Amino acid sequence: MKRYGHWIAGREAKPVSGRWLPSTPPGDDEIILEIALGDAADVDIAVTAAAGAAGSWWNRKPVERGRVLTAIAQRLRDEAAELAALESAEAGKPAWQTPLEVESAASYFEFYAGLINLPSGELVDMGPGIHAYTRREPLGVVGVITPWNAPLNQAARVIAPALAASNAVVAKPSEFTSATTLELARIATECGLPDGILNVVTGLGDSVGAAVVGHPKVRKVAFTGSIRAARKIGRISADRIIPLTLELGGKSPNIVFSDADLARAARGTVEAFVTNGGQICSAGTRLLVDARIHDEFVAAVIAALSQVTPGETYGSATTRAQFDKVNEYFRIAERDGATLLTGGRTAGKGWLFEPTVYTDVTPDMRIAREEIFGPVLSVLRFQDEEEAVAIANDSDYGLAAGIWTSDVARAHRVAARLEAGQVYVNSYPASLVEGPFGGYKNSGYGREKGLEALRHYSQTKFVAISL
Ligand code: NAD
Repeated sequence: MKRYGHWIAGREAKPVSGRWLPSTPPGDDEIILEIALGDAADVDIAVTAAAGAAGSWWNRKPVERGRVLTAIAQRLRDEAAELAALESAEAGKPAWQTPLEVESAASYFEFYAGLINLPSGELVDMGPGIHAYTRREPLGVVGVITPWNAPLNQAARVIAPALAASNAVVAKPSEFTSATTLELARIATECGLPDGILNVVTGLGDSVGAAVVGHPKVRKVAFTGSIRAARKIGRISADRIIPLTLELGGKSPNIVFSDADLARAARGTVEAFVTNGGQICSAGTRLLVDARIHDEFVAAVIAALSQVTPGETYGSATTRAQFDKVNEYFRIAERDGATLLTGGRTAGKGWLFEPTVYTDVTPDMRIAREEIFGPVLSVLRFQDEEEAVAIANDSDYGLAAGIWTSDVARAHRVAARLEAGQVYVNSYPASLVEGPFGGYKNSGYGREKGLEALRHYSQTKFVAISL
């Protein structure tokens, strides 16, 4: 059984406390590996290493930094089979899925390597006698806290732009799925990232995570996870006056108009709520259907579900708490009077769920308002475009939204009115590297991905020189 220490200053480090945390596959008691059970002392060592090393990265020529990021992308691809197997084992994902997630992680490094010169600056015209310009400078040490639903992918999504903008990073992955983030740090070191620029401290959120946010030398935090933890982190970072990016949950609407290609929309609707067993923050779990096509479209969704096999199409709930939560929502749905069309129970062994569809859901029901994070679809009806937009926006969340229509004017009109950080028309993809990603309302603030993420990992300095 492999035992993973922290990754600090370019090498593995034992936990100061000498304590370790076992990791078991979802729904299974067999211990497959152990991670260091860190605490504030480990965080202090890692942050001190990061702060001390930051200059060694920033002072390199951009082209040299870009080369390191490109090498990391290549090594992730070279080691894809091993990384994918590790991620499948820890997170309970099917074997076809994790190689795609490793590829996605590699593409973040590739994408930001290509933008390495972007956080530079611009000339500011102040007339004769003054030469003025801005510089984009790194923030220093960035704390990165990530969840368990797409561990390597989410770590890469944040770490790649943070490094591209010349910061040093201290990452705290989920205690349920830390191994691939530790492997990423090893790979980065082997690819020439200076020691101390990417550190990983493992352990629990309330101790290690909170210590990262509270450390005086951490100058920014990028958090992906629950609203519960975000509120605690927000309080600490408010006291410390440091910037925060929050990528939180969602209850994203997927709106099907009567003029849509219904067969295509049905397939996309299924993909939107079953991918990764619904454990995706941007999952399309609120299906809003034009009342005129409701029965026909719901039948098409049920037919499309015949292509879905739990355990093959998607994997298990990753944590015991998540398994219990989805079961609890089955009871809530029944109590609130939703009609169960299919599913509503576990499938086979372990923490695997059948895809579940509820109809006759009204906007006030808890299964229409709260994030379940399982393969559970709540179907609501609307009478016209106005009502569709009103129901879609009647949510505390605002992460993503889907629109299915053959009317291009309607697509633009509705997209503009939806309160969501990403809108997909006639597809519902797991979002891509290039497009800025993040939430409206309680889904968070700041943006990951795309060019926009780089702005969140740098700060502007204005310089004015009298000539
Ligand atoms: P979580 O908030 O419990 O944990 C996320 C991370 O935060 C873990 O590393 C955890 O150890 C750490 N943490 C927990 N409490 C902390 C604290 N007090 N201080 C500092 N760190 C702390 O969330 P989870 O259950 O791992 O993930 C599921 C949630 O993440 C869902 O709500 C989901 O929607 C959200 N999510 C959002 C996105 C996005 O990009 N918007 C992506 C994936 C998941």
